[in-house]
Amino acid sequence: MPELPEVETVRTGLEQAWVGRTITQVTLRRAGLRFPFPDRMEQRLTGQTIAQVRRRAKYLLIDTTDGLVFLSHLGMSGRYTLITPLEVPRYSEVDASSKHSKFGELTGFEGRHDHMEFCFDDGSVAVYTDPRRFGIADLFERAEEPIQSLLEHLGPEPLENWTAQDAAVRCQGKRSPIKTTLLDQRFVVGVGNIYACEALHRSGISPTLPTHKLVRKDGKPTKALSDLVEHIKDVLKAAIAVGGSTLNDFAAVDGTLGYFGHHFQVYGREDGPCLKEGCNGTIERIVQSNRSTFLCPRCQK
Ligand SMILES: [Zn+2]
Repeated sequence: MPELPEVETVRTGLEQAWVGRTITQVTLRRAGLRFPFPDRMEQRLTGQTIAQVRRRAKYLLIDTTDGLVFLSHLGMSGRYTLITPLEVPRYSEVDASSKHSKFGELTGFEGRHDHMEFCFDDGSVAVYTDPRRFGIADLFERAEEPIQSLLEHLGPEPLENWTAQDAAVRCQGKRSPIKTTLLDQRFVVGVGNIYACEALHRSGISPTLPTHKLVRKDGKPTKALSDLVEHIKDVLKAAIAVGGSTLNDFAAVDGTLGYFGHHFQVYGREDGPCLKEGCNGTIERIVQSNRSTFLCPRCQK
């Protein structure tokens, strides 16, 4: 599943390719993804010029100069393939009613999972492929963004002025394990399972610690919580930096690229030695809220 750093890399790629371009045609090859496509999406997007590509949590928000917002979530397996004007003519047209796109050789699965196609005024094409169809596409006016049900309950962005004090306020009185809290989108958005495990290990905090224990009696964050907030920012920034460095061609705009670098200290390392200096612990896997948690029981308290 693409996590925040992967989505941020996709955002950068789409921004480079799309800003200033006008959509000349939209083709939808099925009725929807996780939800039905919005009414008249093809007609409403055709003729729109892309003004900017933003991200909120793991939602891509594509603004048009006429004040529309096209929302795209990659779900479990969504990705965009950007096809340059020079490449497009290499693929011969298929029947317009076909459920397969003509770009299957590039997008995989013989084009069977290419659900949305966007043509631009420079002759380039963007194809959205999503075998599992957990992705989301929506379209609304920018003025309505604050009341969008997908967006309105989201907590703070970890990389935008999120502080330990803010985290402390949201931790107060919470008895759920800190790992579960980190995955709660009302607490902070987009941290995800992998980066939650990594940040907790770096901070020396047990994933099972009741959340409220990270708040002092006076309501201030403990040192451990301050460290955790910093480590979350660091692991996300490092992953974005690695992702950004892979953005050397259009093929990198791909939510399934995988988890950048695979330089994990704990994630996926069950029974391996703890990599923290001076710790002789062994990494264990436990299950919390149906998700795997990896930890070192020796240095995470
Ligand atoms: Zn350890």
